[in-house]
Amino acid sequence: MSGKLIIISAPSGCGKSTIIHDLTQRGNIDMTFSVSATNRKPRQGEIDGVHYHFLTNEAFHDRIAAGDFLEYEEVYPGRFYGTLKSEINRALDAGTNIVLDIDVKGGINVKRLYGERAIAIFIQPPSVDELRRRLENRGTESREVIDERIARAEFELSLAPQFDTIVVNDNLDEAVDRAEKTILNFIAQ
Ligand code: ADP
Ligand code: 5GP
Repeated sequence: MSGKLIIISAPSGCGKSTIIHDLTQRGNIDMTFSVSATNRKPRQGEIDGVHYHFLTNEAFHDRIAAGDFLEYEEVYPGRFYGTLKSEINRALDAGTNIVLDIDVKGGINVKRLYGERAIAIFIQPPSVDELRRRLENRGTESREVIDERIARAEFELSLAPQFDTIVVNDNLDEAVDRAEKTILNFIAQ
């Protein structure tokens, strides 16, 4: 059977990584994770080649020039993230499903490229206030960066209707259940 793409998009802090982690832990969906490239520095605990391919600014731009990206975005000023064609092709050629944790514009672009072979899932926070609380509690960004992410989130939330499905991440287990059912259904089609 040929592999499919599972796109998980949302503003930063809505729970994409947490939901993908929980889905992986449950082990009910046969899928690998698409490791994106970025020019941002690793956070504590992040491993090169596992969480991201961490590239220098120069290397990232060389890969753009070489046409290596399926899509890339300057998600925050000066900070680039992109999906490598090699990452997706390797999985699809092997008939493996692949899950992408990518920003909202990137998610829409990949869905456009892959059509019925992809499902685009939007993770929505219960409210913008709760999103801010989660970003603050996560403690990985400064107040300035959190303000930047919230400002962008307000625009990104307006793009949710362009996705195949919206999963509200209020209660985490319920959100993981919803995502799991949706993905299993899609894979079985
Ligand atoms: P993203 O990958 O979309 O940026 P994360 O998965 O890192 O978001 O989640 C942001 C923060 O919110 C993390 O600290 C995570 O533990 C927390 N979080 C995720 N889902 C929930 C939830 N349903 N209720 C409360 N906190 C949550
Ligand atoms: P973070 O710095 O918190 O890891 O990620 C910031 C944002 O970049 C998140 O919204 C994440 O989904 C997005 N992102 C990660 N990888 C990619 C990618 O390959 N392409 C795009 N367009 N966005 C990505």
